[in-house]
Amino acid sequence: MAIQTQNPATGDFIKTFEPHTDAEVDLMLAKSVVAHEALRGWSFEKRATHMRKAAQILRDEAEALGAIVTLEMGKTLTSAIAEVKKCAMGAEYYADTAEAHLADDVVKTDAAKSYRTYLPLGPVLAVMPWNYPIWQVVRFAAPALMAGNTGLLKHASNVPQCALYVEDIFRRAGFPDGAFQTLLISGAKVERVLRDDRVKAATLTGSEPAGASVASICGQEIKPTVLELGGSDAFIIMPSADLDAAVKTGIKARNQNNGQSCIAAKRFIVHADIYDEVKERLVNATAALKVGDPTKTDTDIGPLVNEAARKEIASQVDAAVKDGAHLLTGGKVMAGDGWFFEPGVLENISKDSSAYHEEIFGPVATLYKVDDIHAAIELANDSPFGLGSSIWTAEKSEQEKAIREIEAGATFVNAMTSSHPALPFGGIKRSGYGRELAAEGIRAFCNVKAVYIA
Ligand code: NAP
Repeated sequence: MAIQTQNPATGDFIKTFEPHTDAEVDLMLAKSVVAHEALRGWSFEKRATHMRKAAQILRDEAEALGAIVTLEMGKTLTSAIAEVKKCAMGAEYYADTAEAHLADDVVKTDAAKSYRTYLPLGPVLAVMPWNYPIWQVVRFAAPALMAGNTGLLKHASNVPQCALYVEDIFRRAGFPDGAFQTLLISGAKVERVLRDDRVKAATLTGSEPAGASVASICGQEIKPTVLELGGSDAFIIMPSADLDAAVKTGIKARNQNNGQSCIAAKRFIVHADIYDEVKERLVNATAALKVGDPTKTDTDIGPLVNEAARKEIASQVDAAVKDGAHLLTGGKVMAGDGWFFEPGVLENISKDSSAYHEEIFGPVATLYKVDDIHAAIELANDSPFGLGSSIWTAEKSEQEKAIREIEAGATFVNAMTSSHPALPFGGIKRSGYGRELAAEGIRAFCNVKAVYIA
């Protein structure tokens, strides 16, 4: 895949980038090692000063960087600016907390003194997707740099300007030269980097095939990995729920980021007593969403990321309908330039249909009717994925059951699934393993060393 900016709203090619050669990548790896030697010697206070500077740049330049995000991947400008501001918050979170998360932890044994201590590993490769092109990177980079690791970013090939901008932010924030570098390389060149002894670990956010490939290469090389893969999150609505809030939030949770979010509410599982009402409200609210120019403030949904993604969503909808599903609204390719797609709602999805099991990575909600909380949780768990989940109910017993029994990395009660710097983020089952954010995220790429002093 060429490394280039192509505007999803128009299809226009804006800029193409020459990939880095193997020799250039080797130089960057060497720089990463040198930067790690410098950064590991910095105090937490010094790292935090520079991380706060990075946060300030993100905040000051949120509009400019947001415009590049919208240009490269099509999300609304409003949401792109909000994403960049969230990154500032994420960077500040780790500036404030890294030292506490990585403080030596004294353990009582028969030693005079024993404790665990967290040490950086060195250069870490991050393979990242285009859908939150700044947040995905910063939520890796901020903890990595605060721990004393260095970062090598292989970003998705369609967001090179975002990738280079983030590199520049950490440079301007005063981190050592080479502490955070963007490698302009294709997915095919990732193996060579992973097998290089200078690279100590890898993290990938993206699809299952890409994750499996990175993890198997790292397995052969005995290098740790974190994988953040797809999801098909359940959004359960029970009779005691505040329906206004549930439907309003559900619409946002399904369609935010033009429907291209790993933790989007993809499967609406609704109790039979309120099913018809919820269905009507969901369909009406979906039909009322404004699809169009992502730079306009009154646009709800911009284009899908590229033509292949739009074809894929359209074919998933067609296949579901062929298998007996009812398309209640939208779900169609829109005429004209750009890769616009009408948000849709499907119901009556057969268990044999691919739409039942697959992730729909676009603005199409699937709707299921259940008789009770047991059936709701059973259906929620009948998925290969286990990323996020959301339940809407005022009943404490139902809340507790969902928290205990839904197979997912997160359960949000009366709220949509989202990522917060202070909460661990990640999945189980085919959604991946390991955690980003919070204490888990910064410890993921540390050597947890046991120290015993007799
Ligand atoms: P993708 O094709 O897997 O791309 C993600 C990254 O992996 C890109 O940088 C891509 O580079 C690279 N890549 C692709 N194949 C590779 C390979 N064989 N070896 C090494 N690197 C490879 O993912 P996508 O389809 O763009 O992204 C959507 C998926 O990501 C969805 O399933 C979504 O749910 C998931 N996602 C998960 C999370 C989470 O936190 N769990 C967050 C966001 C998205 P190129 O662009 O050069 O191909």
